[in-house]
Amino acid sequence: MDGLMQPRPLTLAHILERAERLYAHKEVVTAGGERLTYAEVADGTRRLATALDGLGVPAGARVATFASNHRRHLELYLAVPVTKRVLHPINIRLPAAHLEYIVEHAEDDVVFVDRALLPRIWPSAARLPRVRHWIVLPDDSDEPIPADPRVLAYDDLVSAAAPFTGSFEDTFTLADEHLASGLCYTSGTTGPPKGVLYSHRSTVLHCLGTLAAGLIGLAESDVVLPIVPMFHANAWGLPYGAMMTGASLVLPGPSADPDHLLRLMAAERVTVAGAVPTVWTSLAPRLRAHDLSATRFLLGGGSAVPPALSETYRAAIGVPITHSWGMTEVSPVGAIGGTRTQHRDASAADQVAVRAAQGQPLPLVNVRIVDVETGRELPRDGAAVGELQVAGPWVAGGYYRVGADGSFTADGWLRTGDLATIDAHGYLRLVDRMKDLIKSGGEWISSVELEGAITAHPDVVEAAVIGRPDPRWMERPVAYVVLREGSETTAEELLAHLTPMVAKWWLPDEFVFVPALPKTGTGKISKSALRDSVRVG
Ligand code: ADP
Repeated sequence: MDGLMQPRPLTLAHILERAERLYAHKEVVTAGGERLTYAEVADGTRRLATALDGLGVPAGARVATFASNHRRHLELYLAVPVTKRVLHPINIRLPAAHLEYIVEHAEDDVVFVDRALLPRIWPSAARLPRVRHWIVLPDDSDEPIPADPRVLAYDDLVSAAAPFTGSFEDTFTLADEHLASGLCYTSGTTGPPKGVLYSHRSTVLHCLGTLAAGLIGLAESDVVLPIVPMFHANAWGLPYGAMMTGASLVLPGPSADPDHLLRLMAAERVTVAGAVPTVWTSLAPRLRAHDLSATRFLLGGGSAVPPALSETYRAAIGVPITHSWGMTEVSPVGAIGGTRTQHRDASAADQVAVRAAQGQPLPLVNVRIVDVETGRELPRDGAAVGELQVAGPWVAGGYYRVGADGSFTADGWLRTGDLATIDAHGYLRLVDRMKDLIKSGGEWISSVELEGAITAHPDVVEAAVIGRPDPRWMERPVAYVVLREGSETTAEELLAHLTPMVAKWWLPDEFVFVPALPKTGTGKISKSALRDSVRVG
């Protein structure tokens, strides 16, 4: 027997209309001093919706953005999907070949680009004939605007358009909740980038899943700063989550300068912020110079947060960095870390260890670990290590124009490529990415764990460990280390620091001291660049 409840569709139109009706007075602040209310953002969104019609962008067409985090990007986050088009945020740090591949593969109809970023994408325009319009988003740069009939100015376009006056919600039917709302490409470190096509339904459910109290749990009283770029898996859902709950949004613009970010956190009394660990590392030395007393929750994901980094934050501002595990294919948040009531009486050291885990899966997300060779599910005993597989209503079921390739199991679960343990409380602990694990003499070494241990040395700012080919052992660990300025710590001292923490055969064969580590387009430490440098060198 079916239930008798209303089959209303789950769509992003509801998030927009809710922000407009309930939280019209709440603010969106973009670095540089621009302050708007949600009412003004909604007005811009309604005008942009009409402008997209005026440009003849058909339903279902992909509308790309090439932009930093600012309020016009937020208007695109809303106007594109609520008019049944598909938002395609592009990573602004991609090399030209990847960028062109992605725009071609997505068949983008229109590209919205920050004026300051024109030099990074306009040279590709000649090779992207399918793009009918290039819309320039104003910023404080004076990059020349190409004299080309396809190029238009965002503010001219939007201010000339009459606002759409109807209810976007009413334009959706139940069947529509499965319409695509967004398209994000994976970084393509192991082959060509692949497109993950989110639906309205998956995005709304992901939003609700992360919003549950005790998880990210945003509230109306929060001031949310997504430092994570809006092109990185929808900024982990923070913009939609803030609008759904009426939290204020602070959008940091193009600068990742640590003092800029910390000043913004202090001035706007930011309560919740999210960023990859490398960003948190860059802010760490300056925490005490700013008033961060409003901060209540810091989210770190995309790669493992070194335990010592989280503890630095806890000591300086009383707030650790809470782990979130996810991937583009998981919308992206799949699990949230931190302690629960069962850890209240645990020792300080045990609590640090719990915070270092990636955490419990979100409601509606199922996880399992599987033996890589046999495909057999492994026990949830906190010890067995296997490939992490996930299933859930905001987990990809296939890739755009590729389908369910080898990344999916026969029973439809996503193979994450991560190796993990799961304990009796469902806590995930990532051992390593399968491709980063170091195989030494038939045993494995977790690069993540070694990096965490090296980073616990007070003079180490950042560390990355990779496997170097070795004729006897197959691979041996080599550690790349960035030391605090002025530090003269030696390899011997680091070895002495590590010896009580890890097995003897895990100790790196070599420490290479470097001024900085290479980063990927999303700001993570790039191990493939390090491996390449070893091969070349
Ligand atoms: P990519 O890094 O390949 O560009 P994603 O941003 O989708 O693409 O990255 C997903 C991967 O990032 C995961 O499979 C996992 O290896 C890693 N990751 C994400 N969150 C965490 C975390 N909290 N701890 C450790 N690794 C993480």
